[in-house]
Amino acid sequence: MFGLFKKFKAGLTKTAQKIAASVGGLFGQKPIDAATLDQLEEALYGADFGVETTTEILGEIRAAYKKDKALHGREAAAIGAAVLRRVLAGSEGVLAPSATKPVVIALIGVNGSGKTTTCAKLAWRLKQDGASVTVGACDTFRAAANEQLRAWCDRLELELVASQQGADSAAVAFDAMQAAKSRGRDYLILDTAGRLHTKSNLMEELAKVRRVLQKHDATAPHHSWLVLDGSHGANAIEQAKEFHRIFGLTGLVVTKLDGTARGGALVGIYRQLKLPVYFLGFGEQPDDLQPYSVDNYVKAVFGLDS
Ligand code: GDP
Repeated sequence: MFGLFKKFKAGLTKTAQKIAASVGGLFGQKPIDAATLDQLEEALYGADFGVETTTEILGEIRAAYKKDKALHGREAAAIGAAVLRRVLAGSEGVLAPSATKPVVIALIGVNGSGKTTTCAKLAWRLKQDGASVTVGACDTFRAAANEQLRAWCDRLELELVASQQGADSAAVAFDAMQAAKSRGRDYLILDTAGRLHTKSNLMEELAKVRRVLQKHDATAPHHSWLVLDGSHGANAIEQAKEFHRIFGLTGLVVTKLDGTARGGALVGIYRQLKLPVYFLGFGEQPDDLQPYSVDNYVKAVFGLDS
């Protein structure tokens, strides 16, 4: 558990620093003042927590400060953390054990969001946990997506079903499903195409992938997760809404949080979509994909160690 928090802390350093640095002693044992609170407000906006959440956090800290002018930075941070915990209640997606074989997880998202990398990291993590996993390279559109996934799978010794670039991604999905099913695999993870020439093409392609999977199992895909680039901050919200409308998502993965100070956007994304977050990406190594935890996220962004 402690090791997991260390990953969150390291991965969210930029966001936490933005908050801590701009408010000086906020997280220390010194009393705060009105100017510190203004700075905190600015920092929360800067970290993309959004109007609603920032207003709520500041509202509660200011109310506490009004009652107790000796309020310490750490106490203020704890109030902010409590607000975030409340806002994020219910946001934890849990990949529960299932009797279904294979459980199909389709990863969806625009090119560059981190889909292919997430696909490999997720398969590796599940395998580490003792599950058997097949990976399907259904992003047949983006040049090099196949090779990239193959390289990851070779390196991590993961079973891959792929085809040539430009092949029909639904055909790959069908083959991958057939392979995973006949071999009795626990999971099938599909890397889908990111962006086609037009949105309607993308819709059609994703719908077709779904249709072929359902020829094998009417309930597949069991999970359709949108992979979002966390460094896009609040801009990712509109994109997420669009994908949700088109595909009917069941969850989210937020990547690249290590490279951004805008890690607060996750809160706005959850508030707007109410979709559970399953995993967060904190880097490019296999174990940099970590199961999302409200507690670890909140403690990491507010610089609270326990
Ligand atoms: P795709 O086009 O959606 O399949 O995106 P890729 O998986 O190819 O990822 C795009 C780039 O982002 C690659 O260079 C990845 O190594 C990088 N990337 C993906 N996830 C993370 C992450 O969590 N942190 C960092 N720093 N880089 C990431």
